[in-house]
Amino acid sequence: MNAIEYIKKILTYIKEHSPGQSEFYQATSEVLNSLTPLLNEEKKYMQNSILEQLVVPDRTIIFKVPWIDDSGKINVNIGYRVQFNSTLGPYKGGLRFHKSVNLGIVKFLGFEQIFKNSLTNLNIGGAKGGSNFNPKGKSDYEIMRFCQSFMNELYRHIGERVDVPAGDIGVGEREIGYLYGQYKRLTGRYEGTLTGKGIAWGGSFGRKEATGYGAVYFANNYLQKVGEDLKDKVAVVSGSGNVAIYAMEKLTHLGAKVVACSDSQGTIYDKDGIDIKTLKAIKEVDRKSLSEYAKLHPKATYIPLHKYPKGGHAIWDIPCQIAMPCATQNELNLFDAKNLVKNGCIMVNEGANMPTTPEAIEYLKANNALFGPAKAANAGGVAVSQLEMAQNASMVRWSFAEVDTKLQTIMKNIFNLVYNTAKEYGFEGDLQRGANIAAFKRVADSMIDLGAV
Ligand code: NDP
Repeated sequence: MNAIEYIKKILTYIKEHSPGQSEFYQATSEVLNSLTPLLNEEKKYMQNSILEQLVVPDRTIIFKVPWIDDSGKINVNIGYRVQFNSTLGPYKGGLRFHKSVNLGIVKFLGFEQIFKNSLTNLNIGGAKGGSNFNPKGKSDYEIMRFCQSFMNELYRHIGERVDVPAGDIGVGEREIGYLYGQYKRLTGRYEGTLTGKGIAWGGSFGRKEATGYGAVYFANNYLQKVGEDLKDKVAVVSGSGNVAIYAMEKLTHLGAKVVACSDSQGTIYDKDGIDIKTLKAIKEVDRKSLSEYAKLHPKATYIPLHKYPKGGHAIWDIPCQIAMPCATQNELNLFDAKNLVKNGCIMVNEGANMPTTPEAIEYLKANNALFGPAKAANAGGVAVSQLEMAQNASMVRWSFAEVDTKLQTIMKNIFNLVYNTAKEYGFEGDLQRGANIAAFKRVADSMIDLGAV
């Protein structure tokens, strides 16, 4: 069997055995289809059935999460933790609380996480979890009761050397606090079993900023490689959550002008440059809609979701040179990619997980736009989470500057690794392929070293 047939066999297996899990199928296809040259060259991966083992999680935990709302009614949500692969270290990956969460989404995120974590060159395995709980409009006490109930089951499956969850969509410092508080209550242990903690109670400086800053460091390395930089570039960033806000902040630090961002309800365009202080006040403190921004900055334009024609997204129709999707999966499609290229965009650098559809990626590459793939570009968050684990284990705390310097080095190393790997396999400039091959090699070789079965 050659590599193409082997990959086809595995993808057919996934389709048959994971019905309805379209995001998981998309994520596995994206990785596996990149591996053809490596699998043709190195027969050991097929001989050791590495793909067969990689696409099935080590274990999947699904549990009920009953919680009482402020009116006294009992609600029940579904909780998930998919511990995908622990070859490189303790399971590591975030928790997502969003109404759309299902097993297929958690599996796609967990699968991606194996490869992202591999690229950091740190000792962390891949996992992901979450719930279909919708935090929108809930009081702090409702969020707290939900998090406590979620941890009442999760605590028995995690631990500082076993599985270390963190945040993702809908899970920030507030939720990590409630989760960690309950973990401590149940186990009586003060240890780094969750990351993204508050600074006062065991968090790391720079964790909040790490994914967004790291993604911009990655973009900067990429631009410098082709003789460009961020200075005076016009940028747009989708989302206005943790990743997006700190991507915008670092883009601004490095001389770019961010003219637009978005949330789940609409897009804001401010040609003078987004005022990040106002944005933080609206989204981080008040947890309100982005439409509030236009009330405080009357020259800015707010485009509600329903006002943009079906088929695309308003944010990608705003002229820019740098585009950073930092909201959610499949938020930049072929229609959007065509708009970006038409308007002079030279780079799409992913902050979110799998935000660009396969057709959009192909179109961007065919039109010579630089493409920074998520598993490399957004690995700064999990890398600093691992630094948080290291600090917790040794009971020390590094300064913001120390963490930021380490983050910059990690992102530079990731960039060099994926760039050089793409070149080595004859695909110079194709960082998507470089990231998949480099990440796979480290995990797969380690699986063989540890005894493949
Ligand atoms: P947040 O919850 O902090 O922010 C998410 C943002 O995206 C919000 O502005 C939200 O809008 C918007 N959004 C969410 N869902 C949709 C949707 N379906 N359509 C349009 N907009 C949407 O999450 P994060 O910033 O933490 O995560 C963003 C992305 O980055 C995710 O893909 C996540 O997996 C990825 N990521 C996160 C890491 C981290 O460290 N946090 C690490 C690596 C990757 P609204 O404000 O209206 O809810």
